Amino acid sequence: MTGVAPPAAGPDPRSHLLGNETADDYRRLVTDGVTRVAAAVARTARPFTGVSPDELAPRVGAIDLDRPLGDPAAALAELEEVYLRDAVYFHHPRYLAHLNCPVVLPALLGEAVLSAVNSSLDTWDQSAGGTLMERHVIDWTTGRIGLGRAADGVFTSGGTQSNLQALLLAREETCRMLRKNLPAPAPLAALLPHLRILTSEDSHFSVQKSAKLLGLAPDSVIPVPSDGNRRMRTDLLAAEIDRCSAADLTVMAVVATAGTTDFGSIDPLPAIAGLCERAGIWLHVDAAYGCGLLASPTRRHLLDGIERASSVTVDYHKSFFQPVSSSALLVRDGATLRHATYYADYLNPARSAERRIPNQVDKSLQTTRRFDALKMWLTLRIMGADAVGRLFDQVVDLAANAWRLLDADPRFEVVTEPSLSTLVFRYVPAGGEHTDADRRHTDLANLHAREALAASGEALVAGTVVDGRHHLKFTLLNPRTTLGDIRAVLDLVAAHAGDHAAAPEPAAATGTAGPPVR
Ligand SMILES: *Cc1c(COP(=O)(O)O)cnc(C)c1O
Repeated sequence: MTGVAPPAAGPDPRSHLLGNETADDYRRLVTDGVTRVAAAVARTARPFTGVSPDELAPRVGAIDLDRPLGDPAAALAELEEVYLRDAVYFHHPRYLAHLNCPVVLPALLGEAVLSAVNSSLDTWDQSAGGTLMERHVIDWTTGRIGLGRAADGVFTSGGTQSNLQALLLAREETCRMLRKNLPAPAPLAALLPHLRILTSEDSHFSVQKSAKLLGLAPDSVIPVPSDGNRRMRTDLLAAEIDRCSAADLTVMAVVATAGTTDFGSIDPLPAIAGLCERAGIWLHVDAAYGCGLLASPTRRHLLDGIERASSVTVDYHKSFFQPVSSSALLVRDGATLRHATYYADYLNPARSAERRIPNQVDKSLQTTRRFDALKMWLTLRIMGADAVGRLFDQVVDLAANAWRLLDADPRFEVVTEPSLSTLVFRYVPAGGEHTDADRRHTDLANLHAREALAASGEALVAGTVVDGRHHLKFTLLNPRTTLGDIRAVLDLVAAHAGDHAAAPEPAAATGTAGPPVR
């Protein structure tokens, strides 16, 4: 049925609002929901059911959002059908695909609290203590990084936004310096075409996206080649800095990655920091993935040099085991956050700054903003940082052991030894690959293995392209995953890929110049 239902003389809609009168309803409703989720989590036998978009779309599409069920139990039962049953469950030990972590219980408690109280961390008058608590978690993080006494930062929606804001600050600071040396006032538009960002070829695509949003030239992001361990080559970075300066281009920022998305590689931060300091360049360290090392009792040294950054991206929702969203941008000089400041009469008039009222909106690209810091707060207060760091250590150890397994396995080629917790590898048929056609066939076998595995729901792995060839990727973020799980998944991958590799090459696959673009 479609169309608008006749108005029902239902209960007073105010009964749906959280308030004094409904506190008990709230408790019952949320408890019912949590009970269902707990049951779904407890019975998860596979990370995924393998449902296809074609199967699920009609089920979702058939639901008439203009015909409310009225009853929470009915809505939850429906939710089971359209979502809970077929969701992708990151807590399952054979979910090995993307940078999604199982989440810690204290953070889920924080999530429940923050959504009910619903503080908005833009202004003090919408959050009170929440503002101070966010600042405290930010200070804890800058302390762990070692950014110094003038450091500051702000929570963001994710690493993409953190990187964008970092590059906005870098652009503004760079233009400010440029203008000092120019004889006449220069509008931003005149400076933009000359700005460049140097980053490794393995850095995150949000750097390119940010450059576009910031009005930089299409060729403004210059990829610096990586070494065999997928770390930025600092000799080539130095050469590129010189080349830009000779060509009258201004390097607005160097973006180093502490934990590349594909390889978990950590760029040589001390050497990069040295080059940036000498040339007066803003150094942004994208530690969206590697930030978990900040809490590691044994591996903090892998981030040495990060304390020399101008800005740092941290994704708590990756290696601090927090639910999405939870990220922060941290800066060495808190004053640079003023480039995100705008005084609105209705919200944060300049007068509020004079009165030193702590308004986080002065530092943020967002206005209304979640109190995500509460999740880290409760995590630190209940578990403590060491426990979080030990969780990350466990997956890094697991990856090291899994690498030995893969390296010794003739069915696979593994690209590089991990420094964090990803493994990029490729199934190769027993006969090897001799021609380009062989390699293309193996590409398809790897693609097929990933898809067949996902369709079976037995395990989820990721894929990526290295040197033009299709590879598979494990991102290990679940401390409950065992080497036995890895072994079992490798057997499944090899079986699926082997089936495909043994099949005659389909005509459609032969004419392609490279791996299909997906
Ligand atoms: C995941 C990731 C990002 C993007 O972060 P989101 O939270 O997904 O927006 C940026 N940089 C690196 C290195 C990442 O791994």
